[in-house]
Amino acid sequence: MDTTETTPSKGATLRCAFCLSLNRVDVARAGDRPKCGKCGRPMLLDRPVKVENDDFDATVLGSDVPVLVDFYADWCAPCRMVAPVLDEVAHDTVGRMLVAKVDTDRAQEVAARYEIRSIPTLILFRDGAEAQRVVGVDVGALKRIAADVSG
Ligand SMILES: [Zn+2]
Repeated sequence: MDTTETTPSKGATLRCAFCLSLNRVDVARAGDRPKCGKCGRPMLLDRPVKVENDDFDATVLGSDVPVLVDFYADWCAPCRMVAPVLDEVAHDTVGRMLVAKVDTDRAQEVAARYEIRSIPTLILFRDGAEAQRVVGVDVGALKRIAADVSG
């Protein structure tokens, strides 16, 4: 028996924050500072990534790691209270979970598909399916999700 431990690849498709091209990156190897295949700049895995109608399925549903999606809008005051918590969660769970943000004014198709009726609504996706939903500002629930994926 070969007892060598191999780290399984945890792929996810993410849009480069700089040139906006889609890259398949190994989230588990975030420490290796993956770079965009097109422009060569770093893929930022330790902060929330913006997702729209056209890349939601590839990024969120196609991820090998859980994805916590924040459905928000710029004009929503409670959403602005959640934002720094999500920045923290993204930083703390780098390599194990992705945090994505969906602007419900722009990505109305995705918001409708998941029947987002009030914002903020946060949905945790695992293997392309909704696993948990947090409606409203619930910092404790978000911290528990972060602790779960880290455990
Ligand atoms: Zn790029």
